[in-house]
Amino acid sequence: MTKTVEFQKNARNVFFHILTLCNLRCRHCYINPEQHGKGMLSSEIIKRWLKALIDKEKETNLIFIGGEPTLHPDLHLLIKAARKMGYASITVDTNGFFFNHILEKVMPGEVDYFSVGLDGSCKEINDLIRGKGSYNKCVDGIKKALSKGFNLSVIYTVSQLNIHDLKNMPSFLKRLGIRRFFIQVIGIRGRSAQDEKHKLQLTRKQWAAVVPKVAARAARFGIHVTYPTVFLDNSERFECAAVVAENYFIFPNGRVYQCPLCEDFSLHSYVFVQNKLTPRPPINERQLFQLSIPEGCVMNKLIQPGNLGYDKQGRPKYKIACCLLKQEINPGTPQLIQ
Ligand code: SF4
Ligand code: SF4
Repeated sequence: MTKTVEFQKNARNVFFHILTLCNLRCRHCYINPEQHGKGMLSSEIIKRWLKALIDKEKETNLIFIGGEPTLHPDLHLLIKAARKMGYASITVDTNGFFFNHILEKVMPGEVDYFSVGLDGSCKEINDLIRGKGSYNKCVDGIKKALSKGFNLSVIYTVSQLNIHDLKNMPSFLKRLGIRRFFIQVIGIRGRSAQDEKHKLQLTRKQWAAVVPKVAARAARFGIHVTYPTVFLDNSERFECAAVVAENYFIFPNGRVYQCPLCEDFSLHSYVFVQNKLTPRPPINERQLFQLSIPEGCVMNKLIQPGNLGYDKQGRPKYKIACCLLKQEINPGTPQLIQ
């Protein structure tokens, strides 16, 4: 069954960018050192912030992210420390290079998932987006991690450069032995917003024609698939994750956002001051989340209005869903979705 993954009211997700440094320069990268910081946080500070971010009353899922988090020489120690603190699950979002011998320094039971970014089923497509040599290195890394017994998922960011290849991913992932697949939609942020030449963003029509069908196909191969909802009909209910759920996006400069679309602006809800999570005075993103508009997501309307469409009376033709709202298909579902 295809289902909308409801925001879980009692779950908390902490997306911890422990550094912004990376060995790659992907065309869709959203890291913005001016707004996110340029440094690598020390293990000491990361551990203090992890302690400040956990809530023993609620399940807290932790995602180590960057930059490339495996460039942090102490990542293995941080994973072990977070486990001890009681984080319910730990995921590492990586580009598959697995630096600093991380696969030798942690055990499969200590990391719930390594979530690997791969943007093509072949090197011609992936390397056009993520850089020369990245495909071979990433696929080798995936094979090595699987052979050691780690759980792996693959994240594919769909853009004009690789939408034609998405259909090849289900059989490719099946051959590799990947059981979880996240399809992302490219935003109008970071480096992708500056790429005038390629116009990477997809239209609603392209998205609807390709993504759900490929997702259903992957599920028939036994792969658990998640993809963003993106568009809602006007009759569908809109909810802002920042109002009904708890997500925290932490950056090395101490900024803590609740919404990923706000991350290019000084609109963060909290900031770490002397290692204490400190709310910021208005105006910040929290005041924006309260606004109700017929177009759905307020931040989308402010920063990516190109996603919207209006009829002759000036009414929105559809709403933009929260970027954190996902559709999920469980493996083995025989039907094609519309
Ligand atoms: S691997 Fe991730 S952090 Fe590095 S350039 Fe690519 S998108 Fe950015
Ligand atoms: S993307 Fe839009 S709906 Fe989602 S948290 Fe941000 S402001 Fe709210």
